[in-house]
Amino acid sequence: MTNSKYSLTTQILFAMVTGLLFGGVMHYLTTGMTLGMGLTSFIQDFLVDGVLYSVGKIFINSLKLLVVPLVFISLVCGTCNPAGGANLGRIGGKTFCLYLFTTAVAVTLALFFGELIQPGAEASLSTGMSYQVKEAPMLKDVFIKIFPSNPFKAMAEGNMLQVIVFSILLGVSIRLSGEKGEHVANTFHRWNVVIMKLVEVVMLIAPIGVFSLIAVLFAQKGFGFIGDLAKYFFTVVFVLLLHATGTLTLLLTLLGKLNPITFVAKMRPVIMFGFSTASSGATLPLTMKVVEEKLGVDNKVASFTVPLGATINMDGTAIMQGVATAFIAQAYGIELGMVGYLTVILTAVLASVGTAAVPGAGMITLAMVLGQVGLPAEAIGLIIGVDRLLDMIRTAVNIMGDATVTCVVAKSEGHLDQAVFDDTSITNS
Ligand code: ASP
Repeated sequence: MTNSKYSLTTQILFAMVTGLLFGGVMHYLTTGMTLGMGLTSFIQDFLVDGVLYSVGKIFINSLKLLVVPLVFISLVCGTCNPAGGANLGRIGGKTFCLYLFTTAVAVTLALFFGELIQPGAEASLSTGMSYQVKEAPMLKDVFIKIFPSNPFKAMAEGNMLQVIVFSILLGVSIRLSGEKGEHVANTFHRWNVVIMKLVEVVMLIAPIGVFSLIAVLFAQKGFGFIGDLAKYFFTVVFVLLLHATGTLTLLLTLLGKLNPITFVAKMRPVIMFGFSTASSGATLPLTMKVVEEKLGVDNKVASFTVPLGATINMDGTAIMQGVATAFIAQAYGIELGMVGYLTVILTAVLASVGTAAVPGAGMITLAMVLGQVGLPAEAIGLIIGVDRLLDMIRTAVNIMGDATVTCVVAKSEGHLDQAVFDDTSITNS
C-alpha cells in the first residue's frame, strides 16, 4: 500500500506507541513538573495545541475528504454494471438484518455483563462533570432523512445514507440506460481507479497523522484519567473484546466459513486506524480498500455494505450504551427490570442506526437510550471523562462488525474471492 519497506500496520503501530509515549511525557512535563512558564507554554500552546493538533486535524480532514467521492463513485460502479449479477435487494436485506442482529447481540451482552459486574454499584454521583445534553434524533426523522431532496446538499453535508440512496438510484439508472449508459459507466470505473489511488496518497501521511492524534490525546489527558471509573471502563472493554472475539468470530466461522485469524490479520491496519481516529467515517476509505483488495470482497457488495455499515452499524457503540445504562441505573439505585432491558436493547439498536460515524457521537445518542428508560441524560457527565479512550476501542469494534458482515454477505452471494481472502502473502502489505 505504501512504498516504505515497513507495512502500513507496522508504521501505524509504531506511530501509536511513540505518540502515546511522547504525549504521556508531555503531559507529565506540563502538569507533574514545575517548568518555567515559557517552557510549559511552548509545549502546551505551540507543540501540543499548535503543531500536533494541526497535523492531526489535517490528517482527519484528508481522510474525510475521501469519503463522499469514494462512496459515491464506488457505489455507482457497484450498481451500474449490467454484467454484475449482484442482487442488490437481497444483499441489502441480508446486510441490514445482520447489522441489526449483531448490534442487538452486542447490547444484550453489554446489559448482561453490566448487571453481572455491577460497575455502578459503588459509583458516587457527585464526581460527575456536567454534560450539555444535545438533542437525540427522532426516530421518524431518521427514516425520512434517508431520502435526499438535493443530492449535492447531501454530498456537501456528508450525509452518507442520502449519498448511498442517490448513488444506487444513479447506478441502477445507468444500467437501465443500455448502450448510452455504458459510456457513463466506463467513466465511473476510471474515476474509481483514480479515487483508490487518492486513498493511497493520503495513506502516505497516516503514520505522522496517527502519531499526532495519539500524542495530543495523551498530552491532554495523561494516563491517570481512568481513576474512579475503572470498573465501568474495564467492563466496557471486556464486552467489546468478547463481542469481537466471540460474536463476530462465530459469525465469520459458522455463517461465512471464513478463517477469523486471516480476517483479523488483514484487518489489523484498519482496526488501528479506527482506534487512532475514533471515527468509522474517517476510516471508511481504508476499510473499503482492505475489504476489497485483501479480503477479496467484490466491489458490488463492499461498495454498498461498508458505507452502510459505517453509517448504521455500531456494535461497539451499542455495547458502551448498554453498559453505560446499567452503570447509571445502578449509580442512581434504579432497577431497570425486564421491560427496561428490552427497551434498552431496542433503543440502542435504533440509536446505533442514528449515531454518526464521528468521535463522541455515541454519547449523544446515549441520551436517547437513557431517556427511554427514564434515566436523566445529565448522568452522562458521570462517564464522559473516560469516553474518549473507550470511543477509540469501540470504533475499532464498530468497523470490525461492518467488515465481518460484509464478508459473510459477500460469501453467501458468491461475491467473495476465497483465493484472495486466503492469500496470506498480502496480509501485511
Ligand atoms: N466514534 C464512533 C464511530 O465513529 C461512534 C461513537 O460511538 O461515538 O464509529
